[in-house]
Amino acid sequence: MSFEHILGQERAKKILQNGLRSGKVSHAYLFSGPKGTGKLGTALTFTKALFCEQLQDDACDECLSCRKIEHGNHPDVQVISPEGQSIKIDQIRELQREFSYRTHAAGRKVYIVEQAESMTVQAANSLLKFLEEPTSPITAILITENGQAMLPTIQSRSQWVPFTPQDPQMICSELIKQGCPATLARAAVHIVNGLDAGIQLCQQNWFAELRNVMLQLGKECGTRLPSALLMAQQKVFKTELAEHADMLFRLFHLWFRDMLNYQYNRQDSLVFRDQLDAIGKLAWTKSAEGWIRCMDAATEAQKRVRANVSPQLAFEQFLVGMQGGT
Ligand SMILES: [Zn+2]
Repeated sequence: MSFEHILGQERAKKILQNGLRSGKVSHAYLFSGPKGTGKLGTALTFTKALFCEQLQDDACDECLSCRKIEHGNHPDVQVISPEGQSIKIDQIRELQREFSYRTHAAGRKVYIVEQAESMTVQAANSLLKFLEEPTSPITAILITENGQAMLPTIQSRSQWVPFTPQDPQMICSELIKQGCPATLARAAVHIVNGLDAGIQLCQQNWFAELRNVMLQLGKECGTRLPSALLMAQQKVFKTELAEHADMLFRLFHLWFRDMLNYQYNRQDSLVFRDQLDAIGKLAWTKSAEGWIRCMDAATEAQKRVRANVSPQLAFEQFLVGMQGGT
């Protein structure tokens, strides 16, 4: 993938390509930003560009070096990810050994550390020594959702490369272009911050199922509470979907927001626009305040589930929270 094909992230691309063009490549880069915003893809593109036999400031994706990196078998490129919960000192030592065997090849070496914030203190200190004593031109790319969580000494020795949430409209059209159903893509972009995360979410079978169940419940729970509760038990809480109960409430929030948008005649903003008939029937059964109360109830229920309240109890409270007023 060339830099041009990375969605958004203009600032990150500029920092990296300027380094390539001027020949001033840092010993360490800290890629920091939300999940699924293209950090790993950008790290691989940058790495390819560093080794590319055809281009100076980009990846050609065709030369031998680019292809070896793509397939994960370039001898001078290593990718480290957590083993279990953390990145352990042995992994960093192994990396150092790997690279020191190759001193005969004096060329550049690159290692990418995924979820770098999960390094143990020992691993981070070991890595720090490695950053401080580069025996050959070694470049580290540390990837994290929270750069501030890294050791300050690592932060200060690294060039920061900020990644920001990608534009929802851009993510949506890209998801659809890549074959995700539009119905799922439109919901996903309100839940994730980036394209990669969106692709991942849309590929989950449970996400499509949960969306269907939410729509059935959404049409019930305005009027028939006991049957909504029964349906939620049978279709969510007693099934594998139970572990994604927080997402059920996230989808409910979007559903209620659609009611408001319908009232305000903002049909272009409807997430569930394939359900226009149902939305048209339901939207005027509550006032705008009523729908806002429902959105709050959904947010509250999502928080409760994340705080380990049983999903069923959270759902009962959610139904109660939706009522009252008009
Ligand atoms: Zn190339």
